[in-house]
Amino acid sequence: MAVDATLPYDDQNVFAKILRGEIPNRTVYEDDFALVFHDINPQAPTHVLVIPKGAYVCWDDFSAKASDAEIAGFVRAVGKVARDLGLVAPGYRLLANTGTNSHQEVPHLHVHLFAGQPLGPMLVR
Ligand code: 5GP
Repeated sequence: MAVDATLPYDDQNVFAKILRGEIPNRTVYEDDFALVFHDINPQAPTHVLVIPKGAYVCWDDFSAKASDAEIAGFVRAVGKVARDLGLVAPGYRLLANTGTNSHQEVPHLHVHLFAGQPLGPMLVR
């Protein structure tokens, strides 16, 4: 079921469990602000998820409440992973679903990073 982006943070969500080490993940990169790991159900040859270490439901929550350091650290982590994976020249796509109409499923902010092939139109028509 899609996330209601206005609800408070639920620390039993699957990405909170991954951050606490209760569920395994295939980590690509980690620093003080972000964890990056492979999506369990990849939609492209490269499909990783970048999540902040802090407890934020979605982009709205993060952009309103996170500190400048958290926001900078998170955005830099997205860029660093893309560079480290060699994705700048071939290109990549970022996606952050927020709330019901986007079909956000996990109520912890995540940015999808897709790459590895031409990624098609932005939205299904
Ligand atoms: P959303 O629809 O919320 O933007 O995307 C959630 C993503 O999380 C989906 O692409 C889904 O495959 C991924 N996902 C859900 N549960 C797990 C999990 O336990 N481990 C990993 N690595 N990815 C997950």
